[in-house]
Amino acid sequence: MQADGVQVSAAQVHATARDNRIASELLLLAYRNNRASVLVNLAATLGVAIAFSGQGQVWPWLWLGIVLCISLLRLALDLAFSRQFGGGALLTSEQRLRWQRPYEVGLVLGALMWVFLVWTQLDKQPAEGQFVMLIVVSALAGGATGVLAPLLGVGRAYIGLLLVPACLKLYWLPHPEPVLATLGLIFFVVMLVGHKNNHKIVVRSIALQEENTELVARLTQHNHEVEALNAGLEKRVAERTEALQTMAHRDALTGLFNRRGLQRWMDERILHATPEGIAVLFLDLDRFKQINDGLGHDLGDRVLQEVARCFEARMPADAAVARWGGDEFVVVIPLLPDDADRGMRLAMTLRGRVMAPLQVDEELLHVGVSIGVARFPRDGKSPSDLIRAADLAATEVKRSGRGHIMAYHELLSRVQKRRLEISQALRDATVDGSLSLVYQPIVDASSGEVAALEALLRWEHAVLGVIRPEEFIPIAEDSDRIVELGEWVLKRACTDAMAWGTGHDAPAVAVNVSIRQLLMSGFADTVAEALNMAGLPAVRLDIEVTESIFGEQHTTPALETLVRLRKLGVRVHVDDFGTGYSSLSRLHEFPLDALKIDRSFVQAIHGHGHAIIEGAILIARRFGLRVIAEGVENFEQAAMLQSLGVDLLQGHALGEASVVPRTETVDPVWAVSGAKASA
Ligand code: C2E
Ligand code: CA
Ligand code: CA
Repeated sequence: MQADGVQVSAAQVHATARDNRIASELLLLAYRNNRASVLVNLAATLGVAIAFSGQGQVWPWLWLGIVLCISLLRLALDLAFSRQFGGGALLTSEQRLRWQRPYEVGLVLGALMWVFLVWTQLDKQPAEGQFVMLIVVSALAGGATGVLAPLLGVGRAYIGLLLVPACLKLYWLPHPEPVLATLGLIFFVVMLVGHKNNHKIVVRSIALQEENTELVARLTQHNHEVEALNAGLEKRVAERTEALQTMAHRDALTGLFNRRGLQRWMDERILHATPEGIAVLFLDLDRFKQINDGLGHDLGDRVLQEVARCFEARMPADAAVARWGGDEFVVVIPLLPDDADRGMRLAMTLRGRVMAPLQVDEELLHVGVSIGVARFPRDGKSPSDLIRAADLAATEVKRSGRGHIMAYHELLSRVQKRRLEISQALRDATVDGSLSLVYQPIVDASSGEVAALEALLRWEHAVLGVIRPEEFIPIAEDSDRIVELGEWVLKRACTDAMAWGTGHDAPAVAVNVSIRQLLMSGFADTVAEALNMAGLPAVRLDIEVTESIFGEQHTTPALETLVRLRKLGVRVHVDDFGTGYSSLSRLHEFPLDALKIDRSFVQAIHGHGHAIIEGAILIARRFGLRVIAEGVENFEQAAMLQSLGVDLLQGHALGEASVVPRTETVDPVWAVSGAKASA
């Protein structure tokens, strides 16, 4: 109800406003017609004055003078009005009242001058004079139906004043003219009707014009709304587009550029590169795989985020950093005329930061980074060429010991070419007779007896020559060719071991097994088959696996295989112990027999290696495992290791690797009798 009431009153207000505007328009129109009305009236007056002055009378001039004065006043009024409202302003109702009254007075005064003329002169005129007068007032009345159409009341009064007194006077003449008078009155009625219709038309046309204006205003308003809506939509579309672009060009984990984002950024930089060029840094994290495998992917992700944050914080405003994939990052930095070493310096800063311990959640981690640097335009013209060059340099860093920075040079392309050649050549290695095995003794630390011999692979390719295992094993692991190679080693080693004796106490053979092999579903069967074919008892086979078996994603399949091997009677040794990120707490879950301390700790036995070896021995004892030390190069090391409690020793000091292995006992000159017991 209330809403209805409000609506009605709103409509009323609207209607009143419109009426006001129409009334205002009518007055404006009336004033606009006023000048024509005054001039026509003056012309008629002048005509009549001239016509009647010929009879030698003064009154026509007097009459003309008065009409002239009235006309001048009306024109002055007109002028004042148009000065104030000439622009077609909207008049308030008070203004309308103030300006309509004088207008009407002027008009009526003008009409009264004709009443005066007709009333005093009509009876004095001959028939044709009367006729002329009647024609003139009729013409003026006729004109008034149009000119005075805006104002109904005063228009009627004006027409009435012109015609009615004249007609009445015709009745009252000494010789009345009833026909003419009646015709005049009929004409008066017709003029009233005409005037009213004209008024209606004027009002209607103004109303239409008003509606039109309102409609235009509403349309304009509507257009504005639509435009605003469109602008809003456009803004949202733009925002969405930007969000999509960001998604397409940013790495979800770190928020850095992704490959595509960086490529686009680089395209632009290369286009506007200074003659000094641009440096491209390829950063490959060291040990990330161990962290990921050993401590879980969630922590791995947090490490990447933390590293990304560190990089970003050290990035100059004109440089960009991207996550290229996995644990690889790319940095691009324009070089400056007075600072061509910018790229190298940034590489050193970033390396320094990553080399320092990294606090991630509760863990304090040691992550390293290998960095390759390439320069535009020297090392490549396109983003992909430059990144490939920097990547190559970083790969070389990784291969040659990790953790440092290397600038790209032509040679690296040759290294890559060689890797490719090796990878190709490896295809036929197991069938073309280019592979062989050498055996290195592993001796008892106290007695010097040869407990086992480690099988080490050798490869002499017909074209490429002798290739070291450090070179071809990683390439074979990259391409999965290691599975075939490993199977060959296993079978050959088992067969060869039969030549060292057939009893259970003859030396065992230790075979290196890559994690890739271990993860193959039929690996335990392959081992059983190799033992069977050679007729070797399972207790004479040790397999050496690295700490990667503790990696989270490998646990289940690796564990299953190891359990099956143990069931066969095969012993499992953890090779290179101490270099990976072993989750030591999980050591007891695996069916292990020995830990083989990495040779780097043996070589550092006078330094930090000492504590690590002690720790490894402690752990081994706790879990009932034996301890082997590899890379023993002199008897001093052998003596220290033995006194610390190491069970078995391997290294140049105890015997080189050879095709025909040494199986006789080594004289244990290093051994301190009873040292083991007191340890
Ligand atoms: P690894 O398993 O740690 O093997 C021991 C390496 O140390 C051998 O190098 C051996 O020659 C070397 N070595 C022996 N005594 C000493 C010493 O006193 N001082 C020093 N500095 N080094 C010593 P090699 O034969 O070049 O093998 C290198 C690596 O290649 C091996 O390291 C192993 O990881 C891999 N490898 C070799 N043969 C095979 C194989 O048949 N299968 C797999 N998967 N990997 C293999
Ligand atoms: Ca080994
Ligand atoms: Ca080793």
